[in-house]
Amino acid sequence: MKCSYLGMKQTAKIESFAKNDTSQFREMTPVKISNMALIVHKYGGTSMGSTERIRNVAKRVAKWARAGHQMVVVPSAMSGETNRLLGLAKELAPAKPTDAYSRELDMLASTGEQVSVGLLAIALQAEGVESVSYAGWQVPIKTDNSFTKARIESIDDKRIRGDLNAGRVVIVTGFQGVDEASNITTLGRGGSDTSAVAVAAALKAAECLIYTDVDGVYTTDPRVVPEARRLHTVSFEEMLEMASMGSKVLQIRSVEFAGKYKVPLRVLSSFTPWDIDIHEEATSGTLITFEEDENMEQAIVSGIAFNRDEAKVSVIGVPDKPGIAYQILGTVADANIEVDVIIQNLSKDGKTDFSFTVHRNDFAKTVDLLKTAVLPNLGSAEIVGDTKICKVSIVGIGMRSHVGVASKMFRSLSEEGINIQMISTSEIKTSVVIDEKYMELAVRALHKAFDLDQTGA
Ligand code: ADP
Ligand code: ASP
Ligand code: MG
Repeated sequence: MKCSYLGMKQTAKIESFAKNDTSQFREMTPVKISNMALIVHKYGGTSMGSTERIRNVAKRVAKWARAGHQMVVVPSAMSGETNRLLGLAKELAPAKPTDAYSRELDMLASTGEQVSVGLLAIALQAEGVESVSYAGWQVPIKTDNSFTKARIESIDDKRIRGDLNAGRVVIVTGFQGVDEASNITTLGRGGSDTSAVAVAAALKAAECLIYTDVDGVYTTDPRVVPEARRLHTVSFEEMLEMASMGSKVLQIRSVEFAGKYKVPLRVLSSFTPWDIDIHEEATSGTLITFEEDENMEQAIVSGIAFNRDEAKVSVIGVPDKPGIAYQILGTVADANIEVDVIIQNLSKDGKTDFSFTVHRNDFAKTVDLLKTAVLPNLGSAEIVGDTKICKVSIVGIGMRSHVGVASKMFRSLSEEGINIQMISTSEIKTSVVIDEKYMELAVRALHKAFDLDQTGA
């Protein structure tokens, strides 16, 4: 029997929903972990980085299992392993945006997680805990066939439940799945978060705990701003914006899943001693909340995200007439390339400039495509690219009810002499595209300006 969490057709697409449609989840209260709960743990690459660390993960999981919980564990590849594997491919042939090449990348990159589950199962058995590991295709975790960025479509819970009921800890590979034609697929970088939350959703787990190398979600990346503060709670909507604006502490799709299937989600450290009190551990880190309550930290801006993964494409001197944006962006969208920030200049002499950002990996493909398919229809227009940009965003649900937040952002950037190239806003975030070399300066300045420094709020 397939999992029933969809409450609809068994093979319905479970990732196909509007990114920002969070309305139905606002009334949800996180479930308390009780005895005999079904819990999903996810361990990231650093947490799985050596046999010593894997032994520690095993001891921690064993503690939870011995406390009476049914445990499913989703580990990532050992740190550096996915990069190493992808690097080997590049040594042999430069990256090509073809399905044939991407299929082999997935075949290759998915092996990192397979090593991890095998090692963790062995470590658990050494701790005297019965355990069994599965690759994505063995569960199976079914995905579409978009190699290197596949989307999960369904998860069959039968095998996992059978093992759990037999008292085993189940270990499932992060990051990977299998398409309809039995090809191995991967879910995009950082995708083990999504595997864990999707497995938790499929099993209706009481909570999904994301163990990582920081002790929670911070106001911004604590590696860039040492003054960053840990948030005890962060709203689902803010987490979604922060993840989509570049905070890689959680992959965005994992947050989307958590929202859609109401999976209680907590980010916490795997570097606390494995034998700390289980209740202390279960309440540490950052809880992603689905409702705004009086316990939530009240700040207009809750966090600052940044992202160096985008590149800017400008089409200069295009005729300013109806249909031009469609010609340019329609062509890009048809090639399955996601466009982010868009800006069109005022027109002069019937001509205008049109700029937008895409993921850096899609930059060359976008420029090629425009040169061949669009430029010939646009008279004397030309294309200019810039890969040395970054996007810095302020995020906070408090922005809804306050005016002047964006202008404060712009003022503090101007005080640092930072030129803003593009701006985009939503109800709870403002993003700017700036020169990459000013990224850290901008993040620090904004962190201070919005009183997020540890000594500030
Ligand atoms: P894992 O391997 O456990 O999945 P990641 O490296 O993917 O870990 O994510 C954890 C990292 O995310 C942290 O080490 C930190 O540098 C970075 N990060 C970025 N933004 C934030 C933030 N707002 N709060 C906490 N960590 C952040
Ligand atoms: N190992 C994969 C990566 O490095 C997935 C993950 O770590 O979440 O991107
Ligand atoms: Mg990660």
